[in-house]
Amino acid sequence: MWLMLRGAKASWHHLSYSVLVLCFLAIQGSKSDVLWTANVNYSYVMENKTYWDEGEIGVYGHDSPVDRAYGLVVLPRRRQHHYSPSQCPPHLNFSVPESYNNAWIALIQRGDCPFSDKIKAAAEAGAKAVVIYNNEGNENGVFEMSHPGTKDTIAIMIGFIKGMEIVQLVRSNIQVTMVIEVGRKHGSWMNHYSIFFVSISFFVVTAATVGYFIFYSARRWRHTRAQNQKMKKLKDEAKKAISRLQLRTIKQGDKVLGPDGDSCAVCIDAYKANDVVRILTCNHFFHKNCIDPWLLEHRTCPMCKCDILKSLGIAVSYTDKILQMYFPHRLGKMQITAQLQIT
Ligand SMILES: [Zn+2]
Ligand SMILES: [Zn+2]
Repeated sequence: MWLMLRGAKASWHHLSYSVLVLCFLAIQGSKSDVLWTANVNYSYVMENKTYWDEGEIGVYGHDSPVDRAYGLVVLPRRRQHHYSPSQCPPHLNFSVPESYNNAWIALIQRGDCPFSDKIKAAAEAGAKAVVIYNNEGNENGVFEMSHPGTKDTIAIMIGFIKGMEIVQLVRSNIQVTMVIEVGRKHGSWMNHYSIFFVSISFFVVTAATVGYFIFYSARRWRHTRAQNQKMKKLKDEAKKAISRLQLRTIKQGDKVLGPDGDSCAVCIDAYKANDVVRILTCNHFFHKNCIDPWLLEHRTCPMCKCDILKSLGIAVSYTDKILQMYFPHRLGKMQITAQLQIT
């Protein structure tokens, strides 16, 4: 039984350890799914004056390197005689100024085809980075784009209003230069990885709690059973002891009768002729009907507290027997402690 108890304790420790590991993994899992903002700075020269605007207005795409980019802003070429110019391949071409040989950044509107298609087309045309601005109606709202397969092309998203501001400038034949800088990291805790790990952790914690509760209840049940057995055994011993105690019938003219006679301490009635009394080991006596139920419960004389089981030599150190039967390890521990105290 002790081995079983130790086993249960060990598995409890294992479970606690597993929960810790799972929580750690959940934190690790969420690390791989963070969101990076981009600081966008664009500047232009108008009438010999330099204007610029800066803000943490972009978000790096999920598959984009989180890195700095710099270059001239280039828009897709507008299709002639087309009511709604498409910003998707194969119509996605860029009008880079002929004399321009430095890095450039493509500014493309969202929509009509996957982000990957737009980004790949711009990269093939020679763009260092791609800025996609959101659709009309989204104000300056942005989100993290998913664009697998775009390799090391830097891609960010900015809001519709900001995007249109820059588009208007470029369309007015103003050269706009843009610098994209890495902004701040934002942890997105509630991604599917962490939800998965948190659920698993929750399940393990619940299982561990239920397991521990069952283990605890079983221990309590064993303890209660031991207590009940002890009480039953004591009652049996008391019955045995009572049967060994002498009985006497009070006769006419007995010295306990009369005006100075004795009375039963349990019912306080004076003894009468033909009363049956039980004589205890301490020589105190009481009505048989009064003392028998008392002895079953208390096993002692109500007058002098004399223990009838002890004086008859029945059930000496019964508690030790119970302990040995149900909790052998406890008895062992007590003995070890006693030895330690002695030496
Ligand atoms: Zn009585
Ligand atoms: Zn007594």
